[in-house]
Amino acid sequence: MGKYKYLIVGQGLAGTVLSFQLHQAGIAHMVIDNGHRSASTLAAAGIINPITGRRYVKSWMIDALLPVALDTYAALEELLEITLVTRSPIIRTFENQAQENLWNESTSRPGYSDYVGGGLNPYALHTHPSYGYGVINQACQIQVGQMIVSYREFLEKQGRLITQDFNPEDVQYDSPVQTVADHTFEQVVFCEGYKAIHNPLFKDLPFQPAKGESLIIETNTQLPPAMLRDTVFMAPANKQTFWSGGGYAWDKLDEKPTEDFRLQWMTKLEAIWKGELKVVSHKAGVRPSVKGRRPLIGRHPSYSRMILFNGMGTKGTSLAPYWARHLLSHLESDTELSEEVSLSRFN
Ligand SMILES: Cc1cc2nc3c(=O)[nH]c(=O)nc-3n(C[C@H](O)[C@H](O)[C@H](O)COP(=O)(O)OP(=O)(O)OC[C@H]3O[C@@H](n4cnc5c(N)ncnc54)[C@H](O)[C@@H]3O)c2cc1C
Repeated sequence: MGKYKYLIVGQGLAGTVLSFQLHQAGIAHMVIDNGHRSASTLAAAGIINPITGRRYVKSWMIDALLPVALDTYAALEELLEITLVTRSPIIRTFENQAQENLWNESTSRPGYSDYVGGGLNPYALHTHPSYGYGVINQACQIQVGQMIVSYREFLEKQGRLITQDFNPEDVQYDSPVQTVADHTFEQVVFCEGYKAIHNPLFKDLPFQPAKGESLIIETNTQLPPAMLRDTVFMAPANKQTFWSGGGYAWDKLDEKPTEDFRLQWMTKLEAIWKGELKVVSHKAGVRPSVKGRRPLIGRHPSYSRMILFNGMGTKGTSLAPYWARHLLSHLESDTELSEEVSLSRFN
């Protein structure tokens, strides 16, 4: 029986990054996870794209998020002895002159020059031509699926993983400690992804979970050494395969890949890619998205030992490292939580 300061519930991207930062700080904790049963991280590409949306604007707080993300993933690479980070530009295609004008206008503003530029056109031979394209720099892809699987093995070896469901109904509200699998914990940090919608402590927060799906595709044409954002995203995985995925469904929230998505996505891909395409794997996951698109972080207003680290939405790869650090500073050094992410904004 061990005594620990924190129990982390859920070992997807959010729980992994938080646990790793606790490990770096030498703070005693354990992680409980049900074997990645609903981990959206396993379906994700782990792309960090600094310029997003139809108006080509900088992703929220990207200047601050990116260095912390790169630091954290580099340190995880060292700990796990695997390669996680691939730095690669993103080719953003335009369909018409209006889009190109908007791109030029948007990216010529102060603070954008580090993220755009470069005369890369490795797609000319392979894709059906688009009207034009811009190049996004400082983008990268993190192998987040592989990361949570390897980190799980690390936790197991350290004797710090409990593999089972944590039932939030079992929380002992009147006790100063929570007892789980014969261990005691002073505080619990919930990183359950979209399953938080069933957690009685946090279910009334404005979650808006969105199912997405992803394909690994093999092609007979040579892949260029960069990511492509056309009508769909394509991220080279190795010499002959690439990742492509997305889609938003709000009604059927589960991890089951659908035939509808596969057919729709392949039609989109066939319109932009000249080579043969063969699906080698197909996954689905539910993003823990939130109305207002900001993370949900902080202590429960009535049960302060119950803490939430969630709401990573569509951008967990860039958000989780920075906000995990921010939360730890709040928990360990009593610093203020940013109002933009704090649960207190709903009080
Ligand atoms: C198709 C697709 C593509 C995506 N692409 C990108 C991308 O390119 N870049 C990007 O930044 N983001 C992307 N995302 C979003 C990204 O997946 C999420 O932001 C992130 O993975 C969320 O991580 P999480 O740890 O909060 O949740 P999850 O990954 O869902 O992890 C939650 C974990 O908790 C476990 N769990 C839940 N409840 C319990 C319980 N009661 N007891 C025990 N264990 C429990 C689950 O099984 C799981 O292991 C994508 C998502 C999808 C679906």
